[in-house]
Amino acid sequence: MTDVAEEFAGGAQFVAGERRAGTGGDACSVVDPATGRTLWTYAAAGPQDVDDAVAAARAALPGWAGTSPGERGEVLRALADLLRDRAGEFAAAETAQCGKPIRLSTGFDVPGTVDNTAFFAGAARMLEGRAAAEYSPDHTSYVRREPVGVVGSIAPWNYPLQMAAWKILPAVAAGNTIVLKPSELTPLTSLMFARAATDAGLPPGVVNIVSGTGPAAGEHLVTHPDVTMTSFTGSTAVGRRVAELAARTVKRVHLELGGKAPFVVFDDADLEAAVHGAVAGALVNGGQDCTAATRAYVQRPLYDAFVAGVADLMATVRIGDPRDPDTDLGPLITTAHRDRVAAFVERARGYATVVTGGAVPDGTPAAAAYYRPTLITGAAQDSEVVQREIFGPVLVALPFDSDDEGLASANDSGYGLAASAWTRDVYRAGRASREIAAGCVWINDHIPIVSEMPHGGWKSSGYGKDMSVYSFEEYTQVKHVMSDNTAVARKSWHRTVFAGR
Ligand code: NAD
Repeated sequence: MTDVAEEFAGGAQFVAGERRAGTGGDACSVVDPATGRTLWTYAAAGPQDVDDAVAAARAALPGWAGTSPGERGEVLRALADLLRDRAGEFAAAETAQCGKPIRLSTGFDVPGTVDNTAFFAGAARMLEGRAAAEYSPDHTSYVRREPVGVVGSIAPWNYPLQMAAWKILPAVAAGNTIVLKPSELTPLTSLMFARAATDAGLPPGVVNIVSGTGPAAGEHLVTHPDVTMTSFTGSTAVGRRVAELAARTVKRVHLELGGKAPFVVFDDADLEAAVHGAVAGALVNGGQDCTAATRAYVQRPLYDAFVAGVADLMATVRIGDPRDPDTDLGPLITTAHRDRVAAFVERARGYATVVTGGAVPDGTPAAAAYYRPTLITGAAQDSEVVQREIFGPVLVALPFDSDDEGLASANDSGYGLAASAWTRDVYRAGRASREIAAGCVWINDHIPIVSEMPHGGWKSSGYGKDMSVYSFEEYTQVKHVMSDNTAVARKSWHRTVFAGR
C-alpha cells in the first residue's frame, strides 16, 4: 500500500465524519509484523476523544433512527459497492497491519466484508416480530423493534476489517449509532471502513472510531453513561472485565470471546479430507482465529495415519512475506505474541511430544514474528495445550476409542465457540451436531462462515450473535404495544381492584 503515515495523516480518530488526532497523551504504533518496521505512530484516544465520539453518536441518533429501513439499506448497498471498488486498498492495508497472507485478505477478509455489507443492506428491511393479534380479545398487540441507542463496540486485531463490519453493520442497519474502538495495533481498516461509509452517504456521527488502548479508551467507552450497549469481541479475560464494568450502568452486553475448537475425526472419515481440513483449519490466519481447529480428537484406527499426514502436510506450508501471493503462512501479530505461543510449546515439551514445528523458522530476523506450523501429541486432556487458547499455528492431536469418549473429550473445555465432526455416517454426524456444546458445528469441514448464519459462542466463548438476522436481537430492543379495542371506561379487569363498582 501507499505510505501509511501519509495516508492517515489526519489522525487515528474518526469523530462526526472527520479524522483527527487523539488527545490521550499516549502514542500507539502500527507495526509490520513481517519486518518489525513501524508503519505509523499515532496519537491515541483518551477519555476526551471517547466523550466527543459518544456525543457525536448521540447527536446523530434521532436522525438516523428516524430513517426508514429502505433508506438505511440504500446507504449500505452503496457502501458495499464502494468497498468492492476499493477492495485492493483494503486488502493491502489489512495485510500490512496484521501480517496475514494477501491471499487471505483478498480471498476472505475483504470479500467477506463486502458480502456482509450487501447482506445487511437487505436485512435492514427485514426486522421482524410476532404477528400483530388479539392475544387478549380486548386488545390488539404488536411488537416494535427499536434501536438500542448509542452502541460502544470494542474489537480485536485478528480480523480487524471483518470485526469492524460485524459490529458496525447490524448496529446501523437497525438504526443505532456507534463508537467503535479497534485494537490499538490495527486501526487502519476500521478507519478506512468508516470513511467509506461516510462517502457512501452515512451521516456524520453515525459511525465513529476511537483508536487507543483498552485501559485508556476502552474502559471509558464501556462505562460511559450515554452508551446504552457494549459489544465486545476479544479474549475471555478482557470480556469478563468488560462485563463487570458494563454492569455498573446496566448496559446490554454482547460478548464474542475466545475459543478452543475441537476437531473430531471418527474412524469412517475421509482421511485425506480430515488431514487437509485440520491443517487448513489450524493454520488459517496463522491460527489466530477464534474458531481455529486446535484439538484434533481422532478415533484410534485412523490416529497414526492422521498424525503422519498432518505432519507431512505442515512441512509443505510456505512461510514467507505476506505480500507474496505464494505465501501460505505469514507472521503472527507481534513478536511478543509469538513468544507467548512459543512458551506454550516449550512448556509442552515437558509432558508431550512436539512432532513438527515448535520453532521460529531458520534465518528469521529478530524483529519478525514468524513461527512454524506445530503439531503436538501425547498431551493429557487436562494439560494447558489442550485446555487454554494458544492463538497460534499449533494443533494438538489426541486419540479416542468410543464415540462416547470422543464427544465427551470435545465437550471437556471451558470454551464453546465452534467445533467440527468428520464422518461419512449420517447418524454419527447427527449425534455430533446435537451433542457438541458450541455455537457452530461443522460436518466434514471447519472454518467457513456465511453472512446469513449466526456466529457466536456458548460457555466462556461468550453470548450474542454476529452476522445474520439473529444479530438484530442484539442491536434492537423489543417493545410490546398493547392497544385497547373496547373503548369502554370501566374495563372488565378493573373488578380485581374495584370489586364490582
Ligand atoms: P484482547 O481481549 O486482548 O483485546 C480485544 C480488545 O479489547 C482490544 O481492542 C483491546 O484494546 C481491548 N481491551 C483490552 N483491555 C481492555 C479493557 N480493560 N477494557 C476495554 N477494552 C479492553 O484480545 P485480542 O488479543 O485483541 O484478540 C484475540 C482474542 O479475541 C482471542 O481470545 C480470540 O479468540 C478473540 N476473538 C473472538 C472472536 C469471536 O467471534 N468470538 C473473534 C475474533 C477474536
